[in-house]
Amino acid sequence: MKYPALKNYIDGKTIDYAGSTLEVISPLDGSVICTVPVSGADAVDKAAAAAKKAFPQWSSLPIRDRAQVFYRYKYLLEKNMNELAELIQEENGKTISESIAEVEKSIEVTEFACSLAQIAAGEILEVSKGVECRIERYPLGVVASITPFNFPTMVPNWTIPNALVLGNCMILKPSELVPLSANRIAELLKEAGLPDGVFNVVHGTKEVVEAICDHPAIEAVSFVGSTKVAKIVYARAASNLKRALTLGGAKNHLLVLPDANVGMTASNVAASMSGCAGQRCMAASAMVAVGSVDHIIKELVEEAKKIVPGKNLGSVISKEAKERIENYITEAEKEGARILLDGRNCKVEGKENGFYVGPTVIDFVKPEMRIAKEEVFGPVLSIIRTDTVDNALSIQHGSLYGNAASVFTQNGGIAKYISEKASAGMIGVNIGVPVPREPFSFGGWNDSKFGTCDITGKSSVEFWTKLKKTTVKWNPESQINWMS
Ligand code: NAD
Repeated sequence: MKYPALKNYIDGKTIDYAGSTLEVISPLDGSVICTVPVSGADAVDKAAAAAKKAFPQWSSLPIRDRAQVFYRYKYLLEKNMNELAELIQEENGKTISESIAEVEKSIEVTEFACSLAQIAAGEILEVSKGVECRIERYPLGVVASITPFNFPTMVPNWTIPNALVLGNCMILKPSELVPLSANRIAELLKEAGLPDGVFNVVHGTKEVVEAICDHPAIEAVSFVGSTKVAKIVYARAASNLKRALTLGGAKNHLLVLPDANVGMTASNVAASMSGCAGQRCMAASAMVAVGSVDHIIKELVEEAKKIVPGKNLGSVISKEAKERIENYITEAEKEGARILLDGRNCKVEGKENGFYVGPTVIDFVKPEMRIAKEEVFGPVLSIIRTDTVDNALSIQHGSLYGNAASVFTQNGGIAKYISEKASAGMIGVNIGVPVPREPFSFGGWNDSKFGTCDITGKSSVEFWTKLKKTTVKWNPESQINWMS
């Protein structure tokens, strides 16, 4: 195996592990690259104890001192960019430029965290003569972050810098499919000067997640993954009276109008449906073609043909994922949809055991088909044809999800109308992947997110802190006595 057996990282050290393990398979070529612990509740208990022990000292530092660690961490992310990207590629299967983009977004989030002293400052006001009210933010204590396979570095970094700069201590439970990046993040945080116990990694599956949701020392749980598990985690953490924010799956609609710029729309839609092999919660999954847009569809297929597995298209995560995606395509074809570009049975020379699906474009998909309703999570675009903007919007509204929606048009009025009416948390106008950049926050609506805050940006400050309200009177002579 290329890497030694992975261990949990608790209290600044890797911990010897003797329990059961899973093989970690590189989806690029199907090879086993290491093993990952399938930890139990005891590991969560140890990590929670370490984090609880570290909390008083870490949280009592001035925020600017905590931020200093993350200035150094940002530098280390930059310095180790290529190595981090290679690791992401190896365990996840995405292309090297997509892996670099993931590290770049981690750097952007870290830069934002370094500026939190400005945003997290409290408020003070003299509310009546001689009486002051003050609001200050306090960290929650020990918090947990549970993350999915599709962004081994970026999604953990959505939570780590913000939560820690704000004074919390964390347990990260990464996806068992891509566990290597998490330990590398832990090493870089230590090198940046993070005190032991402030950040811990516990590897495993369902049992670790359940132990996190149940652990009395853990105050808050953030989760990013499928809607099915997001619901389970939200309900379990909340039933244990924890703060919870759980981001789920997606089915993103791109509404394309006949007046859209042809070249720009075709290349944006093709890039959105195929980037990271379609395994992005912001990926275009359905293109709602409004009216006569055949000229754009033709160009879109030409753009999609330029996306070549093994070159500018990475693999999907597993053999099971490849089979699931191909089954969706086959089922849609049987139900009468027309395959314009078929990515099934794709083989990459020299990587015959890798899990590749080629770019796939399917026309005449009906809203009631399974491929139109469910998250496919592969490089597959369904084209759903309709005649009016309002019908296109009702197709978008028919989705249970609500992560992102985009409109492609040159008409500002229609763009505004669709932006206002679409039922999604993140909207794009002439943008295929409308990810908000810092300090704007990331989070969807409907079944794409459970909980009140967003996971990044200013909104995350609300999630990772609690408010203390202090009322002060230092003037015994004051005649104002209604607050005495
Ligand atoms: P997943 O839900 O299978 O796994 C996510 C995490 O939950 C992993 O750490 C996993 O070990 C754990 N887990 C899995 N089953 C569990 C169970 N029954 N009980 C408790 N924990 C469990 O998700 P995934 O396949 O790793 O990631 C892909 C999904 O994540 C897609 O649906 C994608 O849309 C979604 N996603 C959403 C966002 C967003 O911002 N909304 C971002 C990235 C990914």
